[in-house]
Amino acid sequence: MTHQSRTVHLSDYQPFTHLVTRVALTFRLAPRATEVAATLHFAPNPARPGRHDLRLDGENLTLKSLTLNGKPLDIIPDATGLTIPASLLPDAPFILETLVEISPETNTALEGLYMSRGMYCTQCEAEGFRKITFYPDRPDVMARFRVRVESDLPVLLSNGNPAGQGAAWAEWDDPWPKPAYLFALVAGDLKAHSALFTTASGSPVQLNIWVRPGDENRCAYAMDSLIRSMTWDERVYGREYDLSVFNIVAVDDFNMGAMENKGLNIFNSKFVLASPETATDDDFGRIEAIIAHEYFHNWTGNRITCRDWFQLCLKEGLTVFRDQQFSGDMRSHAVKRIEDVLLLRARQFREDGGPLAHPVRPDSFVEINNFYTATVYEKGAELIGMLKRLVGDDSYAKALDLYFTRHDGEAATIEDWLRVFEDTTGRDLAQFKRWYTEAGTPRVSVTEAWDGKTYALTLRQENPPTPGQPDKLPKVIPVALGLLNPNGDEILPTTVLELTEPEQTFTFSAATRPIPSLLRGFSAPVILERQASPEERAFMLAHDTDPFNKWEAGRALAKDVLARMIVDGASPGPDWLDALARVTLDDTLDPAFRALALRLPAEDDMAATLHAAGITPDPARIHAERRGMGDALARHLAPQLPALIAALAEPGPFTPDARAAGRRALRLACLSLLSRTDGGAAARAAHVRADNMTEDAGTLVCLLDIGEGAAEVQRFAARWGDDRNVMDKWFALQIAFAAPDRVAGVAGALTRHPAFDWKNPNRFRAVLGALSAHHAGFHHASGSGYRILADWLLRLDPLNPQTAARMSTAYETWPRYNADRSSLVQAELARMAAAPGLSRDLAEMVDRMRS
Ligand code: ZN
Repeated sequence: MTHQSRTVHLSDYQPFTHLVTRVALTFRLAPRATEVAATLHFAPNPARPGRHDLRLDGENLTLKSLTLNGKPLDIIPDATGLTIPASLLPDAPFILETLVEISPETNTALEGLYMSRGMYCTQCEAEGFRKITFYPDRPDVMARFRVRVESDLPVLLSNGNPAGQGAAWAEWDDPWPKPAYLFALVAGDLKAHSALFTTASGSPVQLNIWVRPGDENRCAYAMDSLIRSMTWDERVYGREYDLSVFNIVAVDDFNMGAMENKGLNIFNSKFVLASPETATDDDFGRIEAIIAHEYFHNWTGNRITCRDWFQLCLKEGLTVFRDQQFSGDMRSHAVKRIEDVLLLRARQFREDGGPLAHPVRPDSFVEINNFYTATVYEKGAELIGMLKRLVGDDSYAKALDLYFTRHDGEAATIEDWLRVFEDTTGRDLAQFKRWYTEAGTPRVSVTEAWDGKTYALTLRQENPPTPGQPDKLPKVIPVALGLLNPNGDEILPTTVLELTEPEQTFTFSAATRPIPSLLRGFSAPVILERQASPEERAFMLAHDTDPFNKWEAGRALAKDVLARMIVDGASPGPDWLDALARVTLDDTLDPAFRALALRLPAEDDMAATLHAAGITPDPARIHAERRGMGDALARHLAPQLPALIAALAEPGPFTPDARAAGRRALRLACLSLLSRTDGGAAARAAHVRADNMTEDAGTLVCLLDIGEGAAEVQRFAARWGDDRNVMDKWFALQIAFAAPDRVAGVAGALTRHPAFDWKNPNRFRAVLGALSAHHAGFHHASGSGYRILADWLLRLDPLNPQTAARMSTAYETWPRYNADRSSLVQAELARMAAAPGLSRDLAEMVDRMRS
């Protein structure tokens, strides 16, 4: 990396030179010439004794005036901010006033103040506030904000409580000191879906979800999720809301999922708007989880924030863990855990095993936006779960109470977080801390011995090297274990073993040779290596009392079968087919669980598994064999499918609850199998009758998956052409279910479709994200997948570097593949690296992935 590179190191942290005690902002909104007047009250920071220059961050700001204690200052900003020399600053509190001009309409990066289809909105995390006004834009500078918005638009919002409004203005006052990244402003012609909430201690809170006119009738599920989240956080964590209003705004142009700005959450509209006709069950589940996630941030993120961006997992890991607990309580813990582990393996293990691997708490970065990753979020959440497992539920609850009382109003660190657990339990967490500082997924291998009386289980851990971290120390790994006897009775209920050494042996008395159920509930984010026969895996799929491991046995069996098909050309044997048929037809099991058991291993997962076993994966072959596996299952189950599908039909009107969603998931999984033997007749009939998006899109997928559905695709577009969120699905599905040889052609055609608005991140992701996620299409031997993505990233980068950089992670798996593919990827990375004016965001990502 040449230009614009600056590496920030955790070890360089120093408190800021000054404190900000008060902030008053006035916005005079205009699309190309918004004025921002700021009055900032500063004081010297006792934590930084001596006299210091004052450095304020600022980017793309036109400075119109600057005064210090009322006297004009003649200072010219540089490209990233301005410095007021210590010699000009009093050694006492002082007031700085600035007036700047910005242009929200031309802000295509969607960071700072920007416009989305006529409405103004902001995104400040992580470092967007510096695009709004000059300010110490770092999370440990916390201040009280008062905001005045001047505009003709009917709805004018900011953080905190309303503090007055009149013709073409509104004022907001936030009593809670906050870092600038939690600042937000929204102005637009919006309509509210409202409700009233009363906190446990009796304070009323006005809840509003603000959307474009016409979308008000799609807010009910988000509002219901919000109310359940608020109630849950009171009941489970003892945390109440702390303002008189809570506003949520839906915007169509947003780089991420949603943002937890204090009292004014801003959401990607696809994670708010839902009706049965337009949203799938997966959409409903995600809306519930993300509404909860952002709401939970009010305590884990806002009241207690991060000292610096290296501590990002402090708020994100904990808040993801909390939203996972919530979703589990609302739905099914077993199903939620399986889904979370699928996601963890697909995204985080993949990241941890490649060139982009980094610790949950990184120690350096070039662009912080590149570290909103699966490792920080999902592995960060796993670390909280492990900690809870190690100290127990009661100590976890006590430690959290201590965390909230000790650090309320502060900007904290991972050290602070671990200390509340040490102080609560007396336990030394020095070894546990390695989980935060060392990247890579530990591998745990298993050997067993039984002498007729004693069963000895030897666990060995290996911590593989990752970029910049060649040598690693052993971790503390909680391994939840159960033992079954050959009749399927549990002879040892779930017990947590603590693996702390490179190798340790645990012994149990056992009169018959037990079968271990290891890593129950996926008790640690590790790769467990234990060979087992197909008979044993089928036995565990039938008998394990731990629902996660029951599913895991089926998955391991399926992966073994598929690996043998790919490597030896074997065909799927009766062990797997019969075991899966039994689960599918077992009415005592949750349909959602059965649907998950029916899901075949992902192609990307198989590629990673083969690579780990020393076999170079061939994406085309993986794809073909996986299809063959599905066909074999379809033939095996064909006689039973029609009756099962009929039995799973939901009689009444659509409800988005977990029970109904589980039945639909199993029904669609069966319809998809049946389509392989009936040419799509049943799916086509169900498609015509579908009265909800889950079945509408789900049956369309059944058809696309067998190379049918052209007419249905046309009709879908005719019906939903005006709906942006639904049309994103239309774009994505056609690519996701195209045959590998057709993916590039379909993606190319869709990028030429008049509705392909590539500047909208959701639409860009619908097409280019679907291309990257199509394993055999993206890794096509021609290199067309690699090339199309690079072309589009280069086009997007100058406008929206954050989304371009994020989507470049598609290339991170290149070391798995053969020399031809690796060099095709390297050529695309080199082409991007050489592009003039490449953003710091994309430059850092490309640099980390180049060989
Ligand atoms: Zn978050």
